[in-house]
Amino acid sequence: FDQRDGWIWYDGVFVPWADAKLHVLSHGLHYGSTVFEGERAYGGTIFKSAEHSERLRLSAEMLDFTIPYTIGEIDAAKKATLEKNNLVDAYVRPVAWRGSEMMGVAAQKNTIHLAIGVWEWPSYFDPEQRQKGLRLDLSEWRRPDPATIPCKAKAAGLYMICTISKHRAERRGYADALMLDYRGYVAECTGANVFFVKDGVIHTPTPDCFLDGLTRRTVIDIARRHGIEVVERHILPEELASFSECFITGTAAEVTPVGSIADWHFTPSGITHQLMDSYSAEVRPKQQAA
Ligand code: PMP
Repeated sequence: FDQRDGWIWYDGVFVPWADAKLHVLSHGLHYGSTVFEGERAYGGTIFKSAEHSERLRLSAEMLDFTIPYTIGEIDAAKKATLEKNNLVDAYVRPVAWRGSEMMGVAAQKNTIHLAIGVWEWPSYFDPEQRQKGLRLDLSEWRRPDPATIPCKAKAAGLYMICTISKHRAERRGYADALMLDYRGYVAECTGANVFFVKDGVIHTPTPDCFLDGLTRRTVIDIARRHGIEVVERHILPEELASFSECFITGTAAEVTPVGSIADWHFTPSGITHQLMDSYSAEVRPKQQAA
């Protein structure tokens, strides 16, 4: 992935894709002081760009560093990176990390870097699996207690259990894994939030120890606008048998139907399809009235 054509925005300048490197003794690499975002541009406009830039800055604050750019500057840099790479429909990945001046757990004065990469990523999951509804594994790893990690940060370190959970799921023939939380409640997937449907009502876990995704919030708003009741509550895995539909949401995943989680089966139908369509309409820039 590092040998492509294109340009990466790196600390304020564009560098050729293959030259966008960092030092191996970077604090971000050794001690996980790295935060990032995942965003999508549709027709040249990044959906909720400012909200993503704000979350990036807040994630960094939770790791005790300040990104040396304002939300407006980050938004402008993302837009410029899309233009430089001639992309209008793309995934956008800003990443910020502590640099390499000091090696040790404490590195208060290390330079904070910001880079932005953009590329085409039309479907996060295999289109055929997406169509049928994903098969999800149940992860052996649980989302940790908020008292043990800054769980609201989109921080690289929190993705360690996501990667090992997803690798194991893929080896076992599944598309992804659902993680429970430290109490045993249903939490989220490795890169997306989860929703269930029962008797026309949507149920989704309370985001008290995992990312309250921007897509999650958008989908809840859309559902309520359509008059669909949405209940945020703690959900036990035993309850999965009582749900008829299941879908996951995320910037990369958008709204993706789920066919099964371990031995629990779902039939993606009315509400899932309605929200897939409404989300697609929501993220695309509105046509200017003539
Ligand atoms: N949970 C995790 C672990 C994620 O990586 C993501 C993707 N950023 C989400 C949830 C969904 O967040 P969003 O809708 O803001 O992309």
